[in-house]
Amino acid sequence: MSGTRRFSNEALSNEALSNEVLSNEIHDSDSRMRSLLRHLCSALLIISFVLLLPIGPFLLSLASGKSKYARDYFGTLRRAVTHLRELLAKRAITRYFNSLWRESDNEDVTMGGHCNRCGACCLNRKCIFLEQTGEKEYACGIYGTTLRKFTNCGPYPQSQFDIELYNCPTYYVIRNIPVRSYPEGMATPAPIRKSR
Ligand code: SF4
Ligand code: SF4
Repeated sequence: MSGTRRFSNEALSNEALSNEVLSNEIHDSDSRMRSLLRHLCSALLIISFVLLLPIGPFLLSLASGKSKYARDYFGTLRRAVTHLRELLAKRAITRYFNSLWRESDNEDVTMGGHCNRCGACCLNRKCIFLEQTGEKEYACGIYGTTLRKFTNCGPYPQSQFDIELYNCPTYYVIRNIPVRSYPEGMATPAPIRKSR
């Protein structure tokens, strides 16, 4: 009788083990698929940015409702190239897709602090939309527009990683229970939270 019970306990634990292995395999394959999709979407977005560059100043004026981008055509082009370079350096596009698919470690992070408008998290003050409003104060030039809704600027900072990425001087982590890590070597971008 006790032999039968031991056998059935072993069978149960083997079944639990295979279920865990199966669930890990599904999770791994899901992660690989997301990673592939993320790279594909990032590449498509970058290619679109580059192809649209010549008409970029006009598109920016249309989308932001500010004519200055089209009026200063060559200045806008220069800033657009700097912006694009910074996006790539900080892997901002990758972070954008990560945040869309919730592949970040921020689910259980509680943040404290406030924004002093230093502009550091706006691609190291290289975002094409950033405007200087004081000696050391900056504001988002598209704040409140539909265009900004397509960025992932709102939820910055989401973690200690975000804070350190741009040396945000005022936000801090109150509570942090990591759920998942960013892929190795991945950096996140910049944007600004709320009051801009
Ligand atoms: S969120 Fe931090 S880094 Fe960004 S502008 Fe505000 S204080 Fe500066
Ligand atoms: S909030 Fe976002 S769009 Fe606005 S200036 Fe900062 S990085 Fe650019």
